[in-house]
Amino acid sequence: MLGMMQPWPLTVDRILGHAATRHARREVVTRSLEGPIVRTSYGEVHARAKQVSNLLLDMGVRPGDRVGTLAWNTWRHLEVWYGIMGIGAVCHTLNPRLHPDQICWIINDASDRVIFVDEPFAELLLSRMDRAPSVERVVVLNHDYENLIADQPEDCAWGGFDEETACGLCYTSGTTGDPKGVLYSHRSNFLHTLMCLQPDVIGFSASDVVLPVTPMYHANAWGVAFSAPAVGAKLVLPGARLDGASLHELLESEGVTVSCAVPTVWTGLLQYLDQAGATLTTLKRVAIGGAACPEAIIRGFHDRYGVEVRHLWGMTETSPVATAGAVSPELLARPFEEQLPVRLKQGRAPLFCELKITDDEGRRLPEDGRTFGRLKARGPIVSAGYFKGVAGDILDEEGFFDTGDVATIDPDGVMQITDRAKDVIKSGGEWISSVEVENLAASHPKALLAAVIGVPHPKWDERPLLLVKLRPGETSSREEMLGHLEGRIAKWWTPDEVLFVDDIPLGATGKIDKKAIRAAYADYRLPGT
Ligand code: AMP
Repeated sequence: MLGMMQPWPLTVDRILGHAATRHARREVVTRSLEGPIVRTSYGEVHARAKQVSNLLLDMGVRPGDRVGTLAWNTWRHLEVWYGIMGIGAVCHTLNPRLHPDQICWIINDASDRVIFVDEPFAELLLSRMDRAPSVERVVVLNHDYENLIADQPEDCAWGGFDEETACGLCYTSGTTGDPKGVLYSHRSNFLHTLMCLQPDVIGFSASDVVLPVTPMYHANAWGVAFSAPAVGAKLVLPGARLDGASLHELLESEGVTVSCAVPTVWTGLLQYLDQAGATLTTLKRVAIGGAACPEAIIRGFHDRYGVEVRHLWGMTETSPVATAGAVSPELLARPFEEQLPVRLKQGRAPLFCELKITDDEGRRLPEDGRTFGRLKARGPIVSAGYFKGVAGDILDEEGFFDTGDVATIDPDGVMQITDRAKDVIKSGGEWISSVEVENLAASHPKALLAAVIGVPHPKWDERPLLLVKLRPGETSSREEMLGHLEGRIAKWWTPDEVLFVDDIPLGATGKIDKKAIRAAYADYRLPGT
């Protein structure tokens, strides 16, 4: 027997529609690329997004067509995003930090018909248009955009299609082989929004002021472009300026209560705050994900600024948020020091995502908090395959997707990433977690960033090499760094060598770029080997 409730497809156009009718005057504030702060509202964003839809329909864009964006987080990007999705077209967010040739490759793979681009990236794109035959129009957001939408009507029918309709396309960073497209549906994004709004995940309310530093091109800005309007939270968009001073200014001037970013951004902010002696008067919570959150960040925010860190884990293929830091009620009553080890873990999977760990043969491993294995995920927020079917069937017989991460799960259901499968250091047949060692190294007060890679060793196959970028003006030694690790990790996990470097390369999404580091040290030999 079927239930007798109303069919109401879960399509994301309803999210902005809701914000525009019930929170019409709630502000959307942007630091524009030109410099000045621009203030608009959900009501205006909605009206202009419909103008974008009409523009796209005039250009001949039809349901299922891909429309690219190559842009920072701004109110215009938000309008374009909903304008595309509302008419059943697919919003394809392009990452401007990728190499231009790779951007071109991705545009071709997706067959984007129209691309909305921020001025600073326009030249790069336009100079390569002969290599992107599918692209019929490029609209420069801080140029022709205003003129093009000005005469379009502010009314346009949105939705009315199946909730399984594709609405977003985002390519994975492509650390192995060509990038692969992850194709989100309206339903998956809608459910992911509800999931993120849970208080134990990111959790916004109408009184929150939210600043997503995480770019809209990096896995949907962790869903914030959906979850903030869904509850009428004020949205503050940082444009192109993501340095500590600029972020601090926005956080304070707009009264931001919750923000999200990758660890490197927070390291930059904390460094600025510490040096400038600045304070955070409204910020309550920061969500951190995209890479393991170093202890120094959790401590720094808690001890010096009274801000709670919410550790998130996920990936493009999981919409992206798939676990959130979980401190049990019992532990919450304990001193912060005792909570720290749990806060460093990536957390519990909420409803809508199921996890398991397995060995290389796919056999489930015990969830005892010690055994580490391949982390696999399933649920309505997880990819069932890649765009155009590349990579074939990506699910196991139980419907789980192999995340490529290695993790433990403890008896309380709390997951901890111990490595990327390809970054694990295999020493004498046993696995060393590069992440754990680098987190510990980065917690040394003199260290700014740390990276650990495996380098060849005649006896053990691989041994860990630690690279450290020190804070400005600091000096240190191999002995000091290794002394800091002593007693905190198994002896055989101790790096064989420590190199102090001027820079540690970051990838296109702000994470430590292990692939680049491995390439740079491909010929490195440990002393005495
Ligand atoms: P991307 O698809 O570019 O967002 O990259 C996803 C990958 O980032 C995951 O598979 C993890 O390897 C890594 N990652 C994301 N969040 C975390 C986290 N909190 N701790 C450790 N690794 C993370």
